[in-house]
Amino acid sequence: MQPRQLGLAGFALAIAALPLLPVPPFWITQLNYIGLFALVTLGLVLLTGAGGLTSFGQAAFAGIGAYTSAWLSTAHGVSPWLGLLAGLLLTAGVALLLGWLTLRMSGHYLPLATIAWSLALYYTMGNLDALGRYDGLLGVPPISIAGISLREEGRIYWLIWACALGAAVAVLRLLDSRPGRVMRALNLHRGGGITMPEAMGASTFHYKVVMFVLAALLAALSGWLFAHMQRSVNPSPFGIKFGIEYLFMAVLGGVGSVWGAFTGAALVKLTEDQLQVLLPRLIGTAGSYEIIVFGIVLVLVLKFAPEGLWPIIERWLPQPRRGATPAADGASAAPLPAREKPARGELLLQVQAVRKAFGGLVAVNDISFEVRAGQIMGLIGPNGAGKSTTFGLISGVLPLSGGEVLLRGQRISGLPAREVARRGMSRTFQHVKLVPDMTVLENVAIGTYLRTRSGSLAAMLRLDRAEEQRALQEAMRQLQRIGLADQAHVLAGNLALGPQRLVEIARALASDPSLLLLDEPAAGLRHQEKQALAAVLRQLKGEGLSLLLVEHDMDFVMNLTDRIVVMEFGQKLIEGTPAEVQASPAVRAAYLGTEH
Ligand code: ADP
Ligand code: MG
Repeated sequence: MQPRQLGLAGFALAIAALPLLPVPPFWITQLNYIGLFALVTLGLVLLTGAGGLTSFGQAAFAGIGAYTSAWLSTAHGVSPWLGLLAGLLLTAGVALLLGWLTLRMSGHYLPLATIAWSLALYYTMGNLDALGRYDGLLGVPPISIAGISLREEGRIYWLIWACALGAAVAVLRLLDSRPGRVMRALNLHRGGGITMPEAMGASTFHYKVVMFVLAALLAALSGWLFAHMQRSVNPSPFGIKFGIEYLFMAVLGGVGSVWGAFTGAALVKLTEDQLQVLLPRLIGTAGSYEIIVFGIVLVLVLKFAPEGLWPIIERWLPQPRRGATPAADGASAAPLPAREKPARGELLLQVQAVRKAFGGLVAVNDISFEVRAGQIMGLIGPNGAGKSTTFGLISGVLPLSGGEVLLRGQRISGLPAREVARRGMSRTFQHVKLVPDMTVLENVAIGTYLRTRSGSLAAMLRLDRAEEQRALQEAMRQLQRIGLADQAHVLAGNLALGPQRLVEIARALASDPSLLLLDEPAAGLRHQEKQALAAVLRQLKGEGLSLLLVEHDMDFVMNLTDRIVVMEFGQKLIEGTPAEVQASPAVRAAYLGTEH
């Protein structure tokens, strides 16, 4: 067992044993609330910490869980367990609808939608006669398990903490899996976004919806427990104020870690109680002054510990051994499925009169060329020639204004980037897009996305381990191929630019592409790093891989490529062997004209 797993087991044991010890009921009540808050906040660790999405509506989702079961059990005598099922279904439905409406749009729509949704639900709860208006519903029955009623706080405690710890384990497992890698790649605040995961074949919209629905379900579960613990419900704990407070707990504790949720929940609950007693005494009048204190604390935390408080606590704990991941150092699992490879010389990529106009500017003007299997094709030209735009047209990132692109005879122009990837084209990025707080190995494993299948549920239940082993083993194989295996367990953000570019190549290779597209791989590299990169590319060519290299640096491509297309002002200037290109006065003029 790893120290972390031991720690988790110890924590779970201590939590389980607590009510058996002479602990005052006050503390059991406090811990119940902490468990309930942590459940909601865990959803935010997934949504905000991993995915970079913000929701103010988690309290409102808790409200659905609470009210559904409270109403069903009081008005219709339905069992709380059926009430839970109904509450989760209703929550999933609402979250799906909200997510479907807002998650395709840019980042601000989701927070706004969750605010609107919180307000709407709050006033609905407060104005429906059937739900008791602002007085709420009284006489909610306790939950019972196998005939044992969880009427006392010391009993429902176990259920609350079983749920909270179970959810923590599920979220931990999810984040360390095929879907989890995509989720963690989405976070804009950590340099992520949708471009890279889409290029690796993942539907980022799908994963945003999954995260949003899961977070909503965790909140609903918390609300359900709360309703049957309190034995009553009213609208106030489910309003926007609590929606903000959950976000506050997440940020305070640290959204980057599952344990940040527990830290934040505990800190807020414990200090809130102290402040509610202390502040009125200090100030002399009663009121919700703790909100002001929390506001100040939040600003201070964001200033001095932007990752929240858990990472500070974590420094005092034993560090996990990186490399103890079940990464396939000694390869044993079956390899992932491989693509049927094109024969050497087969026509692989056909770029046919592609065109791109930005308003009046024709950035790419009817460019045509072909790449055959086993070839390294270079696309060069001075700055502003239209290389990157051409790259975007081929890789499915930019819509074409005209022309067609075919891969192995199939039309790929007009397809989204993830479909282009599925058909066998993989790419790297001019501005490196690695997930900095994931290891090099995990980053490369994102490349195996299209060759694996495990979904979020399988990941949470750990039914994905055999496939995960195969994916990590494949990632390791690609790292060995480019000579970076010894860096496998380093965080990608700690590498220099040269090795980072190589990691991007390994990630692209992990998708088993027929054609690899490299976007200015030498840009920004030092001389030695360029040499190392050239050596790797030459080796890949030797292995029969086909490459399209878009590059500004003419010297870099000269010794590497079989053929070169030179662009200038959006047009094809010349196509030929490196020697022909080098001898061309037009090319020299183009480069001299803009370079010096
Ligand atoms: P290169 O990669 O060869 O340096 P680009 O393809 O980036 O050239 O750009 C070609 C031309 O298209 C440039 O004049 C650039 O300013 C213009 N351009 C590129 N992208 C856009 C865009 N999104 N909107 C408007 N103009 C663009
Ligand atoms: Mg460019």
